[in-house]
Amino acid sequence: MRTTVGIIGAGPAGLLLARLLHRAGVDCVVLETRDRAYVERRQRAGILEQGSVDILRECGAGDRLDREGLTHRGFELRFEGEAHRVDLPSRTGGRTVTIYPQTEVVKDLIALQLAGGPPLLFDTRVVAVEKADGEQPLIRFVRGGPQGQEDTLECEFVAGCDGSYGASRRALPAGAVSMHARTYPYSWLGILADVPPSSDELLLAGHERGFALHSMRSPAVSRLYLQVPNGTDPRDWPDDRIWDELDVRLAAGNWRLRRGPVLAKSVSGLRSQVIEPMRYGRLLLAGDAAHIVPPSAAKGLNLAFGDVVTMARAFAHWHRTGSAALLDRYSDNCLRRVWQAQFFSHELTTMLHAAPGADAYDRAMQLTWLRRVTGPTAAAAELAENYAGAPLV
Ligand code: FAD
Repeated sequence: MRTTVGIIGAGPAGLLLARLLHRAGVDCVVLETRDRAYVERRQRAGILEQGSVDILRECGAGDRLDREGLTHRGFELRFEGEAHRVDLPSRTGGRTVTIYPQTEVVKDLIALQLAGGPPLLFDTRVVAVEKADGEQPLIRFVRGGPQGQEDTLECEFVAGCDGSYGASRRALPAGAVSMHARTYPYSWLGILADVPPSSDELLLAGHERGFALHSMRSPAVSRLYLQVPNGTDPRDWPDDRIWDELDVRLAAGNWRLRRGPVLAKSVSGLRSQVIEPMRYGRLLLAGDAAHIVPPSAAKGLNLAFGDVVTMARAFAHWHRTGSAALLDRYSDNCLRRVWQAQFFSHELTTMLHAAPGADAYDRAMQLTWLRRVTGPTAAAAELAENYAGAPLV
């Protein structure tokens, strides 16, 4: 098989890139290791910045998003038993965010691609990317499970959109790129609950016992998180214990948390990673393959979209004019936005979590920080700007 751009991974990054390339007349093929049902069910992000909503609409994937997405004009920061609302439009020139689960974004993009878009091969595991430093890179893959047939895809470029454990990172020779990384000393216990949200907007709590987040996937389903120590076993957290702890950390005035059946429960660690540059020869990395942020500021999916918008423009320019100038600037252009999001995600995480061993001085610093960003200050405007995100263009 041959194509112009071989895309590894059918997550949000790979699928949106395929859509944008197709519209620009650039051939591509998407290879995805999992089956369609698995990819469409994988619970992850839920908050789309205005720029992400705009690009989905622009490429024809906005119909259901416009019908079912929940527009949020603000969120609450809770600490010391009080709720402080952060209004987004008044501080960002009118920008908002939209609640629309990653599962639904992925379903919409897959449906579009299967209805006349470029080839999308599920159950196709990429095992190696070869000759990325030459003119004609090669993707080796296996179709149909471990006993499947090995085959190859010759490409002019490879887009590595296969997350942080994929084949693209493994194809980077030692010393070709730098990896900057942080592991946080706490994790998140997340639940999906079959109960309508207890608030119209997101609630982020910076309690002295630790962080808590009240979020939602739809008007009928809530998504909630608690900071827990690294190494926590979810079996040590029966449902009642989770609800009791959420009650304590999210408490403010007369507000009451609605409880309901827990549909899913998991613990995930918090990490920051950046690979620099986001390119090796003709292998360009995008999304989680290039960088990871802790989920506190909900930037992961939005950053992935930012990368592939930049990449698609560069490929379209190359296809139209023969000039690789934008491809050569791809990494630098993305990394400015990536580091900005790293900074904000790190700041919000540190401001709201109780670090192991933190003392009264540390807590006083956190509270001072929280009061600054919830007062009538430039810091409050900056928080809203960063949360709503910059346009992707
Ligand atoms: P992915 O979504 O990881 O997609 C990569 C794709 O590549 C996958 O489909 C994978 O199966 C495929 N693949 C991997 N290896 C191979 C291979 N060898 N061959 C072929 N295909 C391969 N972000 C937020 O903004 N807000 C949140 O609330 C949030 N919550 C999260 C919760 C969890 C548990 C996790 C893990 C992430 C969360 N994120 C969140 C991050 C967000 O989901 C990611 O940033 C986003 O999925 C990145 O998209 P991507 O396309 O780059 O990577």
